[in-house]
Amino acid sequence: MTAAAKLSSQLSLGCIADDYTGASDLANTLTRAGLRTVQTIGVPPDDLALPQVDAVVVSLKSRSIEARLAVERSRASEKWLRGRGACHILFKICSTFDSTDAGNIGPVMDALRDDCGEAIVLVTPAFPETGRTVYQGNLFVGPVPLNESPLKDHPLNPMHDSNLVRVLARQSGTRIGLVDLAAVARGPDAVRARLADLARQGVGAAIIDAVFDSDLETIGAVARDHRLSVGASGIGLGLAHALASARRAQSNVPEAVADAPVGGPAACLAGSCSQATLRQIANAEKTMPVLHLDPEQIISGKDESRHALAWAAERLKQGPVLIASSSAPEEVAALQSRHGRNAAGHAIEQAMADIAEGLVQAGVRRLVVAGGETSGAVVDRLKIPAFLVGAEIAAGVPVLRAVGADAGEMLLALKSGNFGGPEFFSDALKLMH
Ligand code: ADP
Repeated sequence: MTAAAKLSSQLSLGCIADDYTGASDLANTLTRAGLRTVQTIGVPPDDLALPQVDAVVVSLKSRSIEARLAVERSRASEKWLRGRGACHILFKICSTFDSTDAGNIGPVMDALRDDCGEAIVLVTPAFPETGRTVYQGNLFVGPVPLNESPLKDHPLNPMHDSNLVRVLARQSGTRIGLVDLAAVARGPDAVRARLADLARQGVGAAIIDAVFDSDLETIGAVARDHRLSVGASGIGLGLAHALASARRAQSNVPEAVADAPVGGPAACLAGSCSQATLRQIANAEKTMPVLHLDPEQIISGKDESRHALAWAAERLKQGPVLIASSSAPEEVAALQSRHGRNAAGHAIEQAMADIAEGLVQAGVRRLVVAGGETSGAVVDRLKIPAFLVGAEIAAGVPVLRAVGADAGEMLLALKSGNFGGPEFFSDALKLMH
């Protein structure tokens, strides 16, 4: 890597997210709060050249794997982020504290704390604007305590205790304390004093109460003095505001990096069969050519994808096209009963990835994908290691600029099925030039 690339990628904030959607949510939150943010897929290659950014969110899938592996991958991420100059690392967990007594929040926190020599780690999954509040260490999901929320029946990590001081203590090798709302309400200095007090008592991590949005600002201001924190997008927001206002994130750099035009033909792919996507496809018919794939043909071989690419090649010069595998629920059910749910889903995802690859070979540089799994298959196939997060098309769906992709400059929009308004495809293309 060149000295210039190294210099341009000194980070104010490094984040390690324990799942992909949580990572996207955090990256989006940081971007909205004014930090130029890249989200990577897994631990990035050492030589990944970054544009000038303030924050990197490394997306792992470590929430429900063996604790030893979660620790290993989180440490590798931490090493990469610290190597890029990150002064503070946020370990991003779910806002419902998804974990079991075996981990993985405690073991990862302990390992990262050892690595950076932090005396006391700030921990809070609170995000009041999404109904996650913490009071006296108890996590509430909307109006009910965690252990009365639907999380009590989660298939992988049923949450039976709302008291996070106890929950974390069962997973961690260090003593866990509490910074209560009374301290948070008195402001950053009161929180600092309470943390110093706890650290003197040998407490290595503290759950911090937060009930109002303003509490996150206090917590973010204090977290900035530390090298490590643990929490959800709420504490990310607090940190982003603190960093932005301290001008450690240089806000004078043109923010067009994420949104600068790439040109080239544009295409949309839909693999989601959600109601919202079906309606978005119907609306797209009014503004662009739409090809409806035959799912039965997709499952029987590669001809359907080849046909789709030939169809697109004839039209791409005139403007964007949409290729959809999506069907109505009764047709989806019939296909699944003939071929099995997983086999059908996998075959169609791979066909969409084939088509995406072919479209990019044909010059497409702006690609909109509808469907969470479908997007995952497309991104894997295109071997895109990271994204710079840009303008928001619809709530939770930003324009993404590929970073380090084999195909070079590319803009993408990846949405899970139910996201976006009725004109999502044209809304996305309006922001992707
Ligand atoms: P969403 O975000 O709406 O859940 P996903 O892409 O995650 O969308 O999931 C949709 C799944 O349905 C994928 O596995 C996709 O391959 C599969 N699929 C797409 N079209 C059809 C179809 N016509 N029949 C059955 N399954 C389909």
